[in-house]
Amino acid sequence: MKVLRADWLWTGAELLADGALCIDKSGQISAIGAYGDVRRQVPETATVTSLGQGLLMPGLVNGHSHAFQRSIRGHVQWRDAAHDSFWTWRQAMYAAANRLDAGGVYAVSRLCFIEMAEAGITHVGEFHYLHHDPKGQPYADPDELARQVIAAARDVGLRITLLRVVYGAGGIGQPLGPEQRRFRTDSPGAALDAVRRLSETDDTLVNIGLAPHSVRAVPQPWLAELASFDGVVHAHVAEQPAEVAACEAAFGMSPLQLLAEAGLVTDRFSAVHLTWPSPGDGQLMREAGATLCVCPSTELDLGDGLLPLELRQGVALSLGSDSHARIDLFAESRALEMHARALAHQRNVMSPTGVRHGLAERLLTAATRHGSRSLGLAGDGLAESQPADCCFVDLDRPAADGVPPLEAAVFVATPEWVSDVWVAGERIVTDGRAVARRSFGK
Ligand SMILES: [Zn+2]
Repeated sequence: MKVLRADWLWTGAELLADGALCIDKSGQISAIGAYGDVRRQVPETATVTSLGQGLLMPGLVNGHSHAFQRSIRGHVQWRDAAHDSFWTWRQAMYAAANRLDAGGVYAVSRLCFIEMAEAGITHVGEFHYLHHDPKGQPYADPDELARQVIAAARDVGLRITLLRVVYGAGGIGQPLGPEQRRFRTDSPGAALDAVRRLSETDDTLVNIGLAPHSVRAVPQPWLAELASFDGVVHAHVAEQPAEVAACEAAFGMSPLQLLAEAGLVTDRFSAVHLTWPSPGDGQLMREAGATLCVCPSTELDLGDGLLPLELRQGVALSLGSDSHARIDLFAESRALEMHARALAHQRNVMSPTGVRHGLAERLLTAATRHGSRSLGLAGDGLAESQPADCCFVDLDRPAADGVPPLEAAVFVATPEWVSDVWVAGERIVTDGRAVARRSFGK
């Protein structure tokens, strides 16, 4: 039994001065609150770690990741605008995907997950669509690459929800292109079988979800069968105007409406991006209780656009680093509000009216509890009987001097401010360095 004590503790619901949480042998929180109260509830023999001047908070949750895309960071920033677009970026991404063997998938995933852990992330939603070998043939174990990605996350100590992607078309009504052959799924049943196989694990830190890639990549007749899945479902939705136009032309409805018609849009559903919603999409999201996963840095990097203001209210928002142009969920949460300000020409657009610290709490909730819920956990933050997934943001630095702790995390912090990270009570980052680095290259 161990106790973590910090000058500030944000549970996800309240901010406490001199707070503490007690972690039991199973990695769950057995007591949480003011340090004096927690101390009275735990045995004298419990080890107390005093973290000092900083903020102990729920671990950040990366709701949308393609780990292998970390390999093209910095290599796709040079063409002139006339010759570059989302679609040419996609070709570069395909080329990277097609260079990786199974060992390469593990290595780049591990590199990416170490960076995530050191940035305070405890749980990743990996939207995984590399399934076959470079020639498009299944591996002896058809789930080989998914298992490599899971192993990379677990070797780093992260909790992972692997979202097994369904990819059956090269566009609406189009066959897969040769560069997409590694992504191929033969039928909705094959995808559901893969999810079942991958779910057969004793590792409680591994969860498997289903990800119809997009209405571009999943034939419409497959959608209803996929909706029989009873776990978490994620899909790219309306990331680019061309996708919306093609869907409207083919089916007379928006991508989100097409998914909803098949029964996929529920409170277990996360729409990734929804940068170009059609009329009625916002209402659909609210009525379903679905989550909207926004990936601001990638959406800017790819020139997608900014999530419209209308989708920023009344919809549960989570965050992802997606293509990993950067991995910084403090910046992603800050961007949610800053982009809203740029659109509205106002300040504090997403602030709950009249609630002190309410804006910082709302933005941090997107980076923590909403992400957690969208990946299949309760999303209760740090609370009794919940897993001890948490990070410590060191505020003993000039830039944080005099800044309230939640606002310091949202509006000032960088990933380098995260000094320690725990997943299910296991410390996976100490003094800013992932424990897994010590065995790197093993
Ligand atoms: Zn994506």
